[in-house]
Amino acid sequence: MSSPTQHQVDLTHDGQAHWAGTGPANKTCRECAHFCADRRYSAASVSHAKGELTPAPCRLYRRRTGRLRNIPHRAVACKYFEQNDNPPASVIMS
Ligand code: SF4
Repeated sequence: MSSPTQHQVDLTHDGQAHWAGTGPANKTCRECAHFCADRRYSAASVSHAKGELTPAPCRLYRRRTGRLRNIPHRAVACKYFEQNDNPPASVIMS
């Protein structure tokens, strides 16, 4: 198994199933079937009341380690990415 690059190490959040940046280009955990999004959004934080999808666990990481770590939906995908055909929106606008 090859070692991660420093860039991949820097991108990776504790709770990801593998090194970030080893999955398909331009994909994030939000779009992955393993991302356990419960579709909760942050409270309004700016003038146009934007709410961002709250961090959530990766099911694969949890299954493998028994630990629960929330990762941001914007985390760059790892090699275990599987497309979710109905991903939650990254933000909601009111
Ligand atoms: S891409 Fe999928 S499997 Fe990889 S860390 Fe993100 S949610 Fe987990």
